[in-house]
Amino acid sequence: MAKKDSAAFQRCINPACAATFDIHEALTACPECGNLLDIAYDWEAIEVPKRLSDFERRWARRTDPLDFSGVWRFRELLSFAPEEALVTIGEGQTLLYHNETLARQIGLSGGNLHLQYEGLNPSGSFKDNGMAAAFTHARMAGARRAACASTGNTSASMAMYAAAVGMQAVIFIGSGKIAYGKLAQALDSGGLTLQIRGDFDDAMRLVQQAAPRAGLYVVNSVNPFRLEGQKTIMYRVLEALSWEVPDWIVVPGGNLGNSSAFGKAFIELHELGLIDRMPRIAVINSTGAHTLHTLVGDKGLSWGAGSVDDEAIAKYYGYLDAGGLRAHTVATAIEINRPVNLKKCLRALDAADGVVREVPDEDILDMKALVARSGPGCEPASAASVAGARLLVEEGVIGKSDRVVCIITGHVLKDPDVPVKYNSLTGEALVDALGLFSREAPKYQNLPVEIDADLEQIVKVLEGGA
Ligand SMILES: *Cc1c(COP(=O)(O)O)cnc(C)c1O
Ligand SMILES: [Zn+2]
Repeated sequence: MAKKDSAAFQRCINPACAATFDIHEALTACPECGNLLDIAYDWEAIEVPKRLSDFERRWARRTDPLDFSGVWRFRELLSFAPEEALVTIGEGQTLLYHNETLARQIGLSGGNLHLQYEGLNPSGSFKDNGMAAAFTHARMAGARRAACASTGNTSASMAMYAAAVGMQAVIFIGSGKIAYGKLAQALDSGGLTLQIRGDFDDAMRLVQQAAPRAGLYVVNSVNPFRLEGQKTIMYRVLEALSWEVPDWIVVPGGNLGNSSAFGKAFIELHELGLIDRMPRIAVINSTGAHTLHTLVGDKGLSWGAGSVDDEAIAKYYGYLDAGGLRAHTVATAIEINRPVNLKKCLRALDAADGVVREVPDEDILDMKALVARSGPGCEPASAASVAGARLLVEEGVIGKSDRVVCIITGHVLKDPDVPVKYNSLTGEALVDALGLFSREAPKYQNLPVEIDADLEQIVKVLEGGA
């Protein structure tokens, strides 16, 4: 499986422009027309395996860090760098697990629900898949400093990879908008952390403006290499399903990097003849950060063979600005009103017969509780996928015996505040803390029992309980 880095190049996603750029350039938008860039490949020049199952031979070579990596064991499918340049810290050792309890709870009577648990990554979220690829490219481009705007997980992952390869990490975060576990990681890894008085969308704008002036290599998902790494999440889903394509991939939508990467992964596999059909993709917003749902669901925005209605997007953003409307959701990882990968996501929805839904924070937290009751727990944003799947089953869009894969994007300890509040507060205190649950108590609340240090009392409680 030889490799030639010249087989890859960068290309504008706008078909009317389609400008191409050398693979070594560090760009986050097309200099010609401002649209996003893709990594494109001259597949003829790459020795791609004839069947996906050919990748299995790497399972026997787990002592080789590249074959161990859940990203680079699929390296022919993201072949933009020579092997000796690839960066890995063991990302992608993730788990697809079948969850029958949760399947029943969300109405899948056929019981075919799988959770792709990305919380097992080194930094505890799927972002590591993308960072392995972005840092590989950062080194190819000769970068010294990496930067991102972040709701938390991007910075945690970036800071960890920067530390591993000896680069400086510069983090732009909106003040008060970062979950504790994620901030802890960024600070501990030595990242220079700028707490900006503003929200994520402000931080995102500023990092892009600061990058050329301060020589920063941007690793947000506007970086097309990030998405190449995140394609591998889908390869691992297929791998775990013995290379069978599921009916549905359900994913939370924030900056829409994942949904875009998943779409690209399946489009390429299909073109290469490595899969014979596309799964459908469902992207799930929170009702408090629902730009994609509004634009696609209400306003009918679509990819339209690449001629996206830019005016409709500008008009909606103008409306947000005029009203001072900010994203607000307990799922901070998807608390984003201006998703940078919007157009790529539209392309993915078009190719994968996709749907978009929004779910309220109450549902996200209830489903988060249920995820943890039947397997490894997750952070709030991750549970949006399960809440979305439940809604789509209820609507009859997802069939009861469809094979459904929900992406569980991050580990439960990323945001420990939320489950503590959900499970320990009641009444007004709970409403104040989480800004929701005006009802008596959350559905799956698990209140701790306060008790004296007294054996008889303990025995009494245990006899009364389960
Ligand atoms: C980044 C993130 C998301 C959002 O993913 P996008 O690719 O930006 O849509 C969802 N969940 C978690 C845990 C995240 O860290
Ligand atoms: Zn262009």
